[in-house]
Parts: sequence; structure tokens; C-alpha cells
Amino acid sequence: NEGLGSWPARRARKTPHRTALVHDGTSYTYRELNERSTRLAYALRGAGIERGDRVACLTPNHPAYLETLFACGLLGAVFVPLNTRLAADEIRSQLDDCGARLLLHAPSLAPLVPTPDSGLRTVEIGPAYEELLATATSASTAADVPFPLDEPVRPDDLCLIMYTSGTTGRAKGAMLTHANLTWNAVNVLVDAELAADERALVSAPLFHTAALGMLALPVLLKGGSCVLVESFDADDAFDLIERHGITTMFGVPTMYERMAASARWPSADLSSLRTLLCGGAPVPRPLIDTYQRRGLLFQQGYGMTEASPGVLFLDAEDATRKAGSAGVPHFFTDVRLAHPDGSEAGVGEEGEVLVNGPHVMAGYWGRPEATTAALRDGWLHTGDIARADADGHLTVVDRLKDMIISGGENIYPAEVEEAAGAHPAVAECAVIGVPDADWGEVPRIVVVPADPGEPPTLDDLRAFLAGRLASYKTPRSLVIAGELLPRTASGKLRKPLLRERHGTP
Ligand code: AMP
Ligand code: MG
Repeated sequence: NEGLGSWPARRARKTPHRTALVHDGTSYTYRELNERSTRLAYALRGAGIERGDRVACLTPNHPAYLETLFACGLLGAVFVPLNTRLAADEIRSQLDDCGARLLLHAPSLAPLVPTPDSGLRTVEIGPAYEELLATATSASTAADVPFPLDEPVRPDDLCLIMYTSGTTGRAKGAMLTHANLTWNAVNVLVDAELAADERALVSAPLFHTAALGMLALPVLLKGGSCVLVESFDADDAFDLIERHGITTMFGVPTMYERMAASARWPSADLSSLRTLLCGGAPVPRPLIDTYQRRGLLFQQGYGMTEASPGVLFLDAEDATRKAGSAGVPHFFTDVRLAHPDGSEAGVGEEGEVLVNGPHVMAGYWGRPEATTAALRDGWLHTGDIARADADGHLTVVDRLKDMIISGGENIYPAEVEEAAGAHPAVAECAVIGVPDADWGEVPRIVVVPADPGEPPTLDDLRAFLAGRLASYKTPRSLVIAGELLPRTASGKLRKPLLRERHGTP
């Protein structure tokens, strides 16, 4: 087995007694992680899961999430993590899209789980999950007995499908192979100074590639410990850092902003921290300065789900000198900045970020056209605009794609416009991002009412969208427009003009 499924066994061979995971007062050594993942692989096979089958997982950060990922890797099955913040409709459409055979879910998320009609089997993470592990044969728990497969899992086999929204509405499943995730982890270990004795605070959600690819997987590859936390709270983060001697963490800017604004910030003992990883959204310069004034190394990374996810990374050495830049491409990554006509952008010029490397996805699940559009001539077209300085350091300055990032979660206005446009009181609408000190950006909807005498209220629309769209995607404010929305000759909404007219916070 050349895939991720072999990692726990390989680690158990080298460092059986080291702590791999800590969760809710319980720790698991690498030997235990290997035993549990292997037992789960046998149990899943006993439940009829075969090579290539999709196994979905809906849970806040929990050992079962990583055990399922590794168990799927042992079986050659495909792991499909789902965003716990989605609405029930969105969960159902992702399960349908990938044709999931089995769904493991946290008890608290049962209301999001579709009723068992579609042949989808569900397992609740708790006693039912533990029972499933217990049904595995004892032979399966020996660390030196490889999990039997007719054909070994190869690096180019599919490892996981991670859903990411797009400008066309429905979310697309980015297909990441074992090689993709392995090369990304290697890139991170080369660039991010992670050591074997790392104690990582994993409080950003593992269902996004950032916490998984930039933190949990590299730390587990290296033999460090991951402290899994179900949801992020700034005050709790300080307690966890002190209690577990946390050395590193990953967060989106909103998480670090909240920590710096916490009453615990001035007095907390942060002496165990060696490096802080931040990315997933533009990182405001004052935030970097706040952390650097406390002597904390604040490293910015830029990436996307389709790249597993690391693309650019700011080395420790340059964290201060180049603060604000997202750094240079990872060791095994090539980046070009291209003008719209495909020509190379020169120093100081803006261009679209194109990415090539062994960590770039295989494509979108069941979407050949979207795949061809994203991967042109072997280069991933990110839809992000950056500029390079004379030293080759890149700064991400803008987005070509119509996307809002709110607290690290991406929102595609097209998806919200389509859903809100179905409300009978809405003739047409546009969704734009409005700057917000806490969330970075928040979505605002501009509505042309069907009947100007009876325009919809924000509450009307929010109630209409509940259950259809994740709550982070639902507009936070509403503007009623007195005239038709401005459009280009081809009928597309003129977003820059709309932002100019209606985008003041
Ligand atoms: P996702 O697929 O959810 O990881 O989102 C990827 C997108 O987040 C990228 O295409 C960028 O638009 C944005 N992004 C990620 N990291 C950064 C960063 N360090 N600075 C600016 N934007 C970022
Ligand atoms: Mg993101």
C-alpha cells in the first residue's frame, strides 16, 4: 500500500508509543491509531464497502474522521468529508453527487442526515461506531499484518473527494489522490519547520483542506501529536495552548483576530508556541504585526482545495522581512502569473496565479467540462490575482472569480443568487461582499422586488434560505434597488459597479 492508508502502520512501526491524537481527554498512540484504523477497514469491508466506493463523513474534528480517512486508504475506498455547516439540502446533494454508500456522522448532526431511503447506510460516531470497530477480527489488529487487497493501493489512486463551490452554483468534488496529499504534506514539512515533537492545535475544521493538508497530515507524517478540538473558541484556545504545550496551529485570519481581541491575550502563556500558520483568506497586515510584536512567528500560506491545498508559503526567515506577502511557491510547486492572453506577467505586474505540481488535483468528480476549464495545459487556473516582487515573493491582491470569503468559508454569490431568486417577491438579485472587521467579508443581497410596493425583508429571505443554504452563505444585510441591476452586454451582473454603489459597510 503506497497510499495514506499505510501511514498509521508505518508510524506504528517507528514510533508506536508516541501520541498521535488527543481528543476530549483521551489520547491515542500511533499503535492505537493503527489498530483502530485497521479494525475500521475490516469493519467497512464487512459492511460491503469495496475498493473505489465512496464513504462520507460528517463530523466536527474527531479521531473517527482521521480513522475513516486511513481506513478508506487501506481499502482503496474514497473518503468524502462534508462541511458540518451546510444545510440539509446541500448535504443531500453532495451525497448524491458522489454516490456515497456509507455515511459516518456525529450524533449532534443527525438532523442533517438524509432519511435512510436511498440505500445509504449511516453509522453514528459514538457507541455504534465503537461497536463497528469491535466487530473486526483480532487478526486485523496486528500492526505487522498488512491489510489484504488483490491489487495494492497506488499513489495515483483516488484518496478523497472534497466539495468546493463554484461560480456555476452546485458544489464540485475536487478529486485528490494519495500522491496529491502526500506531496502536499512533503511540501509543508520542507517549508514549515514542523518537528517530530510537534503538538498541534487542530481547531480549524478538518473537513476543509487547510487544517487537514497544512497541519494534521504533515504532523502525523512526521510523528507529532494532533490535539483535536471540535469547535474553535478564542478563550478555549489559550487554555488548550497552556494545557497541552501547543507548539503550532493553523487558523484563518478570523480565528487569530479573535484570539488577539480576547481578554486572555495579554496574560496567556504562549511560550510553547513555535510557529503559527495562517491562510485561507487575505491576511491583514495589522494582524501579522500584532502577533510579531509578541515575538510570535506568523507564517502566511496561500492555497486552495484543488491544490491539496498549499501553493505559496512564507518561510520563517522571511516572515518579518516580507510580512504581508504569501511567500514563494512550495518546494515541489511551480507557479506562473499570467495575463488574460496567457503571456507572463513581469515583476510588479498583476496576473492570474497558475499552479503546477504533484499536489494538484486529478479533476472534479463527474465534471469533465469543469475539469478541462480548471486544468488547462497542465496548469491549475486559480482565479486569484497576484503580483511578484523582484525577489519572487508573491502577494495575492485580488480575485477574478466572483467569490466572498467570510471567516475562512467561501461563498459563491451565484449560488446564493440562484437560491434567493426563487423567492416570489424577488424579481432579480445580486450578492456582493461587504468588508467586515470580524469576518473579513460578509454577504449582502441587492434585490429588485417583484412588486415595489411589497419588497421582501431580510428576515423573509433568511427564513426562505434556511435549510437550503448554509447559514454562513445567507445574506447579512439587504438593499432594495429602485431600478434594474446593471449588466454587461452578455447579461452578466456588473459586480464591481454594484459593489461601488451598494458595498459600503
Ligand atoms: P479553498 O478552496 O476553500 O481553500 O479556497 C481557496 C481560495 O481562498 C483561494 O482561491 C483564494 O481566493 C483564497 N485564499 C486562500 N489563501 C489565501 C491567502 N493567503 N490570501 C488570500 N486569499 C487566499
Ligand atoms: Mg477556504
